[in-house]
Amino acid sequence: MTAEPLNPIPKVADSSNAPEAVTTMVRHVRETWREIEPYTPEVAQFFYGMLFTLAPEARDFFPIHMDVRSGKLVRAIVNILQSVDRPDDVAPYLVQLGRDHRKFGVQSHHYEAIGTALLAAVKRQLGPGWTDDVERAWAEAFTIVARSMQDAAEADEYPPSWTGTVAEHRRLSWDLALVRIEPDRHIPYRPGQYLSVEVPQRPRLWRNLSPANAPRPDGSIEFHVRAIEGGWVSRGIVSHTQPGDVWRFGAPMGQLHVDRESGRDILMIAGGTGITPLQSILDDLGRYGKNPNVTIFYGGAAREDLYALEVLRSLSATNPWLTVHPVVERDEGLSGFEVGTLADVVSSYGAWADHDVLVSGSPSMIRATVSRMLVAGTALDQIRYDPFIEE
Ligand SMILES: Cc1cc2nc3c(=O)[nH]c(=O)nc-3n(C[C@H](O)[C@H](O)[C@H](O)COP(=O)(O)OP(=O)(O)OC[C@H]3O[C@@H](n4cnc5c(N)ncnc54)[C@H](O)[C@@H]3O)c2cc1C
Repeated sequence: MTAEPLNPIPKVADSSNAPEAVTTMVRHVRETWREIEPYTPEVAQFFYGMLFTLAPEARDFFPIHMDVRSGKLVRAIVNILQSVDRPDDVAPYLVQLGRDHRKFGVQSHHYEAIGTALLAAVKRQLGPGWTDDVERAWAEAFTIVARSMQDAAEADEYPPSWTGTVAEHRRLSWDLALVRIEPDRHIPYRPGQYLSVEVPQRPRLWRNLSPANAPRPDGSIEFHVRAIEGGWVSRGIVSHTQPGDVWRFGAPMGQLHVDRESGRDILMIAGGTGITPLQSILDDLGRYGKNPNVTIFYGGAAREDLYALEVLRSLSATNPWLTVHPVVERDEGLSGFEVGTLADVVSSYGAWADHDVLVSGSPSMIRATVSRMLVAGTALDQIRYDPFIEE
């Protein structure tokens, strides 16, 4: 299904409307997974062993050096299986995932091999707990997921992947680079979406990156990439990317978007390079004369982390609908900056009733911000986010 971890399902919605059979199925999956989760490395090792026996060519979907015991893929699949009782959230996500996975050359027999290997690995670890009901639950949940992804892949009218050439690579700071890509053909992403990317310095290590601009007539895309300490791909991009490098992209994914016609104002909350999908949305809004009011809180540990602040400020100087609040965690005595975590600062303003809320940043920042906002009274269905996962 993927060589990279799948994002956890973006929303925690109410599953009380799901049919009883589906609720029971998910309960079986959850309960049995809870029992064996501490043994994820063993489950993963068995899973990959069986998968590569059933479909040896599937090895090419994964990085050359792979840690078979890390369990990221198994955990990611199980995350999705545990969410099939929330079809409103899951279905659009699976459609995007199915399209994205075409970049690997995944065929229907690979889904079968993955399902067989997963069930065999869970069964082996669970021992006597693997009853007929449990087996049916895992098989049905996997079938729902695999079928949705395959249907989406088959119906997709676009190519399985895109290529683009690096036209510019510029350091914005010691650990941050801007990379401008000229795709060979138009990549049909919406402002706020992200793309999975493979770079020549790190073959088969796909990572998600968010375009920082709205689609342009010439198709060019800017990415802002921060080198993560110990990060395989981000450090490769920041340090070694050269003009002329060819990057490969999967199908656009992601839930972040703005409905200009909704009549509601927008609250945006961005940490670090989480600003990029929001910049793309703002770039798009900047093309219209009339927009909802947009308030953006842009935060980091210190002033130097807010690399896009000047761009945001100049956008707000010419667009009265945009208000920018910079936020830093360290009190550096800066005027015009609020001090604290984004979660603290944003929730200190109350519930943000009548706003659509877009949150973008690291998984920990998203978790903290969303949970504080819920406590402050913001309704869950007001909030959208695409977690920068690393579970
Ligand atoms: C939807 C989405 C959009 C994204 N958009 C962008 C973007 O526009 N620009 C950008 O620079 N990155 C973006 N990312 C993050 C990016 O996909 C990679 O996860 C990140 O660059 C690290 O990859 P790596 O190979 O260097 O690190 P890895 O080798 O995968 O990980 C090395 C270590 O760093 C930790 N780590 C991984 N990611 C992060 C992180 N984001 N913050 C802190 N620690 C981390 C890991 O847990 C691990 O310990 C996005 C992620 C998602 C899910």
